[in-house]
Amino acid sequence: MNIIMLGAPGTGKGTIGAEICKHYNLTHLATGDIFRDEIKRQTELGKKANEYISKGQLVPDEITIAMVEGKLDKMDGVLLDGFPRTINQAESLKKYLAEHNKEITVVINLVVPDEDIIKRTVSRVICSNKECGASYNTIFMPPKVEGICDKCGSKLIKRADDNEETIKQRLAVYYKNTEPLINYYKNEGLLESVDINIYLPTTKEITTAKSIKIIENRLNN
Ligand code: ADP
Ligand code: ZN
Repeated sequence: MNIIMLGAPGTGKGTIGAEICKHYNLTHLATGDIFRDEIKRQTELGKKANEYISKGQLVPDEITIAMVEGKLDKMDGVLLDGFPRTINQAESLKKYLAEHNKEITVVINLVVPDEDIIKRTVSRVICSNKECGASYNTIFMPPKVEGICDKCGSKLIKRADDNEETIKQRLAVYYKNTEPLINYYKNEGLLESVDINIYLPTTKEITTAKSIKIIENRLNN
């Protein structure tokens, strides 16, 4: 089974994706996490990626696609979180999967209003331990002990690109480059959307349960 998590920045792709991975024993491939690790280790790829990420822009397709395909070669049963983000990336992925006799099971599109996205990202903190990668929100989903990860006890840190200015830029990039993927995957018959807003119950557990139900329906049809 191969799942794609789609959605604007800060909609919960990583948080819900991690729960889905646990449930189905999938490998979580989060392009943003991989880039942040490369930046931390100051690799060539990291230095290049940081030029774009720090400005809220997308890392160029050729860099991103090569990186993802290099990882996919070693994986079976994967959840893609943050990839594809452009039509070009989606086309490359389609070709890659066809050549490897694999297919996408479903694309889960998380839908959150823009005002909520800004609130969620400015108050987001993430685990500094890359093996863990847990994400929290100091207002809506706080850790049990301030500044410490519930799951692994490591320090929580703020992402450099989670400031209001960069988030607005990332949202603009989302609407220009990534939102067209909604129609793309609708046409492929793969899209399923989950609405998350203040008028609906929005805990992580509820969104996870809705997503798993969607996957089960796909698997049984
Ligand atoms: P979020 O979903 O909160 O924006 P991510 O961790 O998925 O955060 O991504 C952080 C940044 O990494 C993006 O703003 C972008 O610069 C870069 N990035 C991640 N995935 C991709 C991708 N598939 N293509 C291009 N750039 C990417
Ligand atoms: Zn942790």
